[in-house]
Amino acid sequence: MSPSPVRVRFAPSPTGFLHVGGARTALFNWLYARHTGGKFILRIEDTDKARNTVEAVQVIYDGLKWLGLDWDEGPGIGGDCGPYFQSERDAVYVNYLAKLEAAGKVYLDEKGATRFKAPRQLIVMEDLVCGRVEVDRSKPINPLGDLEPDPTIRRPDGSWIFHFVNVVDDIEMGITHVIRGEDHLSNTPKHIELCQALGATPPKYAHIPLILNRSGGKMSKRDQGASVQQYIDEGYAPEAVANYLCLLGWSPKDNREKLDMGEVISLFELDKINRRNAAFDTDKCFWLNGQYVHEMSLERFRALCMPVMERAGLPIGGFTNDYLDHVLASVKEKVKLLKDVPAWTAYFFTDDFPFDEEAVAKTLRAAGAGERLRQLAAHLENIAPESWDAATLEGAFKTLAADAGVKTAVFIHPARVAASGRSVGPSLYHMLSILGKEKVLVRLRAAAEKA
Ligand code: GLU
Repeated sequence: MSPSPVRVRFAPSPTGFLHVGGARTALFNWLYARHTGGKFILRIEDTDKARNTVEAVQVIYDGLKWLGLDWDEGPGIGGDCGPYFQSERDAVYVNYLAKLEAAGKVYLDEKGATRFKAPRQLIVMEDLVCGRVEVDRSKPINPLGDLEPDPTIRRPDGSWIFHFVNVVDDIEMGITHVIRGEDHLSNTPKHIELCQALGATPPKYAHIPLILNRSGGKMSKRDQGASVQQYIDEGYAPEAVANYLCLLGWSPKDNREKLDMGEVISLFELDKINRRNAAFDTDKCFWLNGQYVHEMSLERFRALCMPVMERAGLPIGGFTNDYLDHVLASVKEKVKLLKDVPAWTAYFFTDDFPFDEEAVAKTLRAAGAGERLRQLAAHLENIAPESWDAATLEGAFKTLAADAGVKTAVFIHPARVAASGRSVGPSLYHMLSILGKEKVLVRLRAAAEKA
């Protein structure tokens, strides 16, 4: 008999925030499903009514979609094991509770809560990441000799406790592997007891190491870089962030860092997940993003930049794709974050671009700058519009500087600030060639006036 197909799930509780730790858990589940040809299920654990809002769930969808983690069953997709919101599965839980009641495995405590009569056995877990873990549930949990209290299943108000509904849903949804954060390892003996009491075989478990912040503590919501939304807002490329998350607890044998997701899918195995905690390194994620941006195709770069530029209010719609591509190609090697693209390119799309104060003070207000700009404009005027390209411009700058007996930089610096308002940017000759003769001359002369 062939082994049953893999079914894994990501089971977030909507908190209004997708933590990188949660995103990494989702990613590892997704990778395992794609590696094995199994199914990746999204289940929303929204039993906490107070925190359960439409927006909070949307944050999860947005983050997963942005990272490219598509689910095979779950909200918006459907599937045979729905509904995929715990808040809509009350009838299922009532049914499972009835099984425990029929078997005499639950009782009402003095406060009216339903409790599970824990069998208190020796639980041996063969965790796929942590290895063999033994917990003797018959032993006291403290020096006073207290046993762990019987787990609550349902509160007096009828609401369900996480442990019970989590186990029931894993059974009902045919989950074969539970891949989740190591912070749940201590819950697992309880989950195994519940699962067995319900007559089911527990899934295989893989508890993945925690993500640590810079100071070595468990990464929390407040740590820098903790929210997936932050990467979206700061203009990271999703493929770079997904790649970075892969490296948090997993790495290929040869320790390469920039890895295509298709390759990760083919290499990914649960037993290769690192047992040691993973340190979160914002600088490395930033570096990796730069690598991705530089190496991606112009087409991909354009697709990522356009919404960012539109949101920044740049009127890119009024320009040809050809022009847009020239502009983007000129800055692609320079930018690290997509959110910087509007500032790097605004002057290509509007004449009303900002001037950097410092650049103005240093170059345009320098002695003789106005005169240089006037000379330059007069000299460039002689270039025929059809010869207005980077090579011709370079030649023109050099001749002008040689004739004046100065370094080319004497013309380059003020020209750059005059044309773009900035002291950094793409190669000057390319920038001027893209802008076109007419605009360049107007800007040089306007800056000469100001200087
Ligand atoms: N809702 C739980 C959490 O967010 C899921 C735990 C699990 O994956 O079993 O931590």
